[in-house]
Amino acid sequence: MASIFTKIIDGKIPCYKVAEDENHIAFLDINPNAKGHTLCIPKIEVNKIFDLNSDQYLLLMEFSRKVALALEETISCKRVGMSVIGLEVPHVHVHLIPLNDMKEMTFQNKVTMDDQAFKALAKDIAAAISL
Ligand code: AMP
Repeated sequence: MASIFTKIIDGKIPCYKVAEDENHIAFLDINPNAKGHTLCIPKIEVNKIFDLNSDQYLLLMEFSRKVALALEETISCKRVGMSVIGLEVPHVHVHLIPLNDMKEMTFQNKVTMDDQAFKALAKDIAAAISL
């Protein structure tokens, strides 16, 4: 069965997209640790990040770097943290989290945003991205 992220890629379920290229898509995490928490994923459905081949892995890192630079430009933060977990969704994804405090990397600290706020934020980040 297709992962929830493959359904997003296929347009079967919606997301707050911030960037897309031929092989990747980036969208806002629906349950963010901090404002601007973004997921970068390869379009190919692979469960674990280190099962990507070297080229796929490096391309994902380069795509994530570009998204992170746009996050730094758009959101007031000390830096952008990066994490890879995958215990909930078995489709490779890089968490990019604008950080002001260590607790924002714990996945216990959540912020609430409404649909309008997600849409406006995704638009601002998308405008700052140069792929
Ligand atoms: P993990 O697999 O533990 O790295 O976590 C999966 C992440 O995906 C969590 O932070 C979820 O909030 C996020 N997530 C799950 N479903 C969606 C969705 N439909 N749109 C955006 N983010 C999602």
